[in-house]
Amino acid sequence: MIEVRLADRVKNLPPYLFATIDKMKQEALAKGVDLIDLSIGDPDIPTPQHIVGALNKSALKPENHRYPSYEGMLSYRQAVCDWYKKRFNVFLDPKTEVLSLIGSKEGIGHIPLAFINSGDVVLVPSPGYPVYPVSTLFAGGEPYLIPLLEQNNFLPDLKSIPEDIKKRAKLIFVNYPNNPTSANGNDDFFKELIEFAHRYNIIVCHDAAYSEIYYDGNRPKSFLQYEGAKDVGIEFHSLSKTYNMTGWRIGFAVGNKDVIFGLGKIKTNLDSGVFQAIQEAGIVALNTPDSELVKIREIYQDRRDILCEGLKKLGFQFTIPEATFYVWVKVSKDYDSTSFVAKILEQCGILCTPGIGFGAPGEGYIRFALTQSSERIKEATERLKKII
Ligand SMILES: *Cc1c(COP(=O)(O)O)cnc(C)c1O
Repeated sequence: MIEVRLADRVKNLPPYLFATIDKMKQEALAKGVDLIDLSIGDPDIPTPQHIVGALNKSALKPENHRYPSYEGMLSYRQAVCDWYKKRFNVFLDPKTEVLSLIGSKEGIGHIPLAFINSGDVVLVPSPGYPVYPVSTLFAGGEPYLIPLLEQNNFLPDLKSIPEDIKKRAKLIFVNYPNNPTSANGNDDFFKELIEFAHRYNIIVCHDAAYSEIYYDGNRPKSFLQYEGAKDVGIEFHSLSKTYNMTGWRIGFAVGNKDVIFGLGKIKTNLDSGVFQAIQEAGIVALNTPDSELVKIREIYQDRRDILCEGLKKLGFQFTIPEATFYVWVKVSKDYDSTSFVAKILEQCGILCTPGIGFGAPGEGYIRFALTQSSERIKEATERLKKII
C-alpha cells in the first residue's frame, strides 16, 4: 500500500464548519425526528415542465451526444444575449462576451486560475459563498475578507481596505442579491465599485445567481447596467435558482471580453463544456414566459411572509429580504451561531445554517432558507415558540 498524502492545498482548506451540525442532523433523523430542514440553498420546487420536455426531445438527437463546443453553442450564447437585452437592456456580443458554464460555481471556482499569481490578493465578501476564498486559495492567491456588516446594509466598505491590499488585489468577488444576508446592491455601491476597480486595476466578478428571486416588485439590477462595468469585469449567472435547475449544471459568464477569454482558456484545458441537450433546454428556459417566474416568486413571497411574520412575533431581529430565498437572522445574546442552531434543532426539530459557516463575520447570525412548503414553514414558526 502506498502512503496517500493530500496536497497542501487540500490540507490547508478552511475547516468544515458544518460538521457538528451535520452530525446533529444525522442523530435527529436516526431518532425519527420530523425534521424541518431550512438549511438548504436548493429550490424544492421542480423544474418547469416545458423545460424538462425540451430536454427529453433534445436528448434523443444523436448530434447532441458528441462533445459540445467549449464556449457553448452559439444558439445558447445568443439566447443569453437576448435574455440580457430583454431583462436588463444590456447588449452583449454572443461570440466574445458570453461563455457557457457547468453551473456558475464552476466558473467562480476556475476564474482565479486565469488571473491570480501566487501571492496576489483577491477581495472576498464575508459572510459569503465559500467558493470565493477556496478558489482563490487553490490558485495560490490570498483572500482578503471584506466584512459585510449590517450597519453598511451588508455592502462591502471599499474605503476600509488598506492601501497596500488594494494595490496587491487583482480581483474582487461581489454578490447581489446576496447569499447569505439577502441584501440587495444599490446604484451608489455599484458606481463606487466600478470607479474603485478602474483606479486599482481590479477585475470585478459579480455573482448574480439570485437576480430573479425578488419580492414586492423590487427587480435587482445587473452589474452590467452601470456605465463602465464592461471595462472592469464580468457577471456570473445561473439557471439554477431562476428556473429550479440546480441539478442540471448550467450557467454562464458575461461581460468584459478579455476576462471571458481568460476564463475560457482555463476551461478549454479542464472541461469540455455543457451537454448540448441541456444547452438546448437552457435556451427554452431562458425564453420562459414571465408569468411562470411570477408564480415561482409568489411561492417564495408567501413563504417569506409566513416566516418573517412568525419570527417578528417571537422577537427575532432581521431585515425582511427584498430578494433571495434566505432570511438572515440575529442570534440571541447568550449563544453563538453554532450553539443557537443546535438549540433550535434540539428543541424544535428545525435545521438552519450557522452564520459562521459563511466566514467569521457571519458569526452572530443564522440563515433560514425558504426551500420548504408554506405549511412546513408555518409549522416551523409554531415550533419556534418553544425556545422563546
Ligand atoms: C446557488 C449559488 C450559485 C449558483 O450555483 P450553480 O453552480 O450555478 O448552481 C452561485 N452563487 C451563489 C452565491 C449561490 O448561492
